[in-house]
Amino acid sequence: MQIWRVNVGQRNLTREPAPESWSRLGGRGLSARILLDEVDPSCDPLGAGNKLIFAPGLLVGHMLSSCDRISIGGKSPLTGGIKEANAGGTTGLQMAYLGIRALIIEDIPAEPGFWVLHLSKQGARFEQTFRACPEPAEGVSEDPKGLIGLGVYETASKLLEKYGQKVAIALIGPGGEMKLSAAGIQNLDKDKVPSRIAARGGLGAVMGSKGLKAVVFDAAGCPKPPIANPEAYREAQKVYNKALLDHPQTHTYRDYGTAAMVQMCQTFGSLPTRNFSAGQFEGADAISGEHLRELLLGRGGVSNPTHACMPGCTIRCSNVFGGEDGKVIVSPLEYESIGLMGSNLGIDSLDAIARLNWQVNDLGLDSIEVGAALGVAAEAGQMGWGDAARALELLDEIRRNTPLGRVLANGAVSTGKHFGIQRVPAVKGQAMSAYEPRAIKGTGVTYATSPQGADHTAGLTIRARINHLDPKGQADVSRTAQINMAGYDSLGACLFAGFGFAVASVETIASLLNARYGWNVGTDILQALGKETLKLEREFNRRAGFTAKDDRLPEWMTREPLPPHNAVFDVAEEDLDGVFDW
Ligand code: SF4
Repeated sequence: MQIWRVNVGQRNLTREPAPESWSRLGGRGLSARILLDEVDPSCDPLGAGNKLIFAPGLLVGHMLSSCDRISIGGKSPLTGGIKEANAGGTTGLQMAYLGIRALIIEDIPAEPGFWVLHLSKQGARFEQTFRACPEPAEGVSEDPKGLIGLGVYETASKLLEKYGQKVAIALIGPGGEMKLSAAGIQNLDKDKVPSRIAARGGLGAVMGSKGLKAVVFDAAGCPKPPIANPEAYREAQKVYNKALLDHPQTHTYRDYGTAAMVQMCQTFGSLPTRNFSAGQFEGADAISGEHLRELLLGRGGVSNPTHACMPGCTIRCSNVFGGEDGKVIVSPLEYESIGLMGSNLGIDSLDAIARLNWQVNDLGLDSIEVGAALGVAAEAGQMGWGDAARALELLDEIRRNTPLGRVLANGAVSTGKHFGIQRVPAVKGQAMSAYEPRAIKGTGVTYATSPQGADHTAGLTIRARINHLDPKGQADVSRTAQINMAGYDSLGACLFAGFGFAVASVETIASLLNARYGWNVGTDILQALGKETLKLEREFNRRAGFTAKDDRLPEWMTREPLPPHNAVFDVAEEDLDGVFDW
């Protein structure tokens, strides 16, 4: 496994062995190590000094269920701190076949423009791309190299036509080209749909600043990565698969997807509603996982409540959301999009949310950040609660790159500043996910203290056996969740793979790594990876100027009661400051 270094200023590729200190890291942990070693934390996130890192997790490469995720990292234009966003799909797998431990994209182009970077065992090829012709005149064929300005769906289908159906592609939409802070990086799922987004923190804008519309990973002729002890690997895999299949949550997520969280959050009073002003939504039933399943089964055809984002996933929490006309509206429709663009905007129609979601995806933007920004805009009177048609118009402002569109797609904080709204649900510049932190206080601790900014995937605590409204003990559950998640993100394991590992025990993780690499790691490996990753990330942020004062929820959440429990966020500041004392 090698480090591939692409310089977009010189348009060249060098391949080198990983230094010793990087060799046992993967995914999020490796990305953090590289950023700390090579990037000045005070640099301009969109300037030549920032680097964009693609790093598959340590378990990626053998279709172990739900364990082929790609971590993408860089300094965030949204938070000004370190950022890692990970995604399912096929990018990680193809990179592992190519033997890439990490791809480091450096510098900015010497001249303005966008390129498609094609990577294969032969090396790197840069192909310049041009502005897409909006409507080619009759009889005039469209420029096949015209990708600039196109949404991710059309871009992906043109690239697949050109490079063949077996490649993996990471690409940006117009949002990344416009260097908007809510822009993410889309990846193809197993069905070649660019639906798996490394969404958070504006890494799509970093890719845009590097002049890359897409990176094509072409592993033709490459073997699977070697396994040091195939028999031991097969044994450990069997234990893990069985544990995963037997876990009751696997069945819940297969049947209802992440949308199962709607009713759970409604019950806890933690469903963000009308710009985080309430924790229960009167339209929750209509946007629930139960209703989503019923709707999709009833529609049949292309609709499917169960779908896998990557080859080999046995949980299959994803879905294909088709309309009444039998055509796909969006795939997948996830809880976070339902929460932020549904209840948070007062919208109670899954069809309407799915249409909003398609637009946001096509623009290559993060539905959490954009949904939160729309909630703030609604509070400022830019749209009525529940007005999905107006929400679509606001998304069109983004597509047309108008001043209002740029304000919205630079995130919730940008929108709050522009309209003078104080109730902005964000930490370190990044919008909160769809778990109200006043009602799920452990997740509030994660939002406050994670080096990533507000992000449920950094340490969700909703399943912890604790009274979520009691401020005591929340720092402890957040610490455990943050360490575990940083560990899973370094392995390339999906959040839900944790169900399997929790039952099969951490020994299985050690067995898989030892069999794969010929190592001799102990059962504390998940903890060790998680702690090391968090330490590196916090050090990067410290050097970027972050202090304990940044590890706080917005002040209004500490005094504004949240119905129905009238809870405020009251975890003690000493507890927040002690989260990383281990
Ligand atoms: S559980 Fe869901 S998100 Fe995780 S790998 Fe499977 S389909 Fe993808």
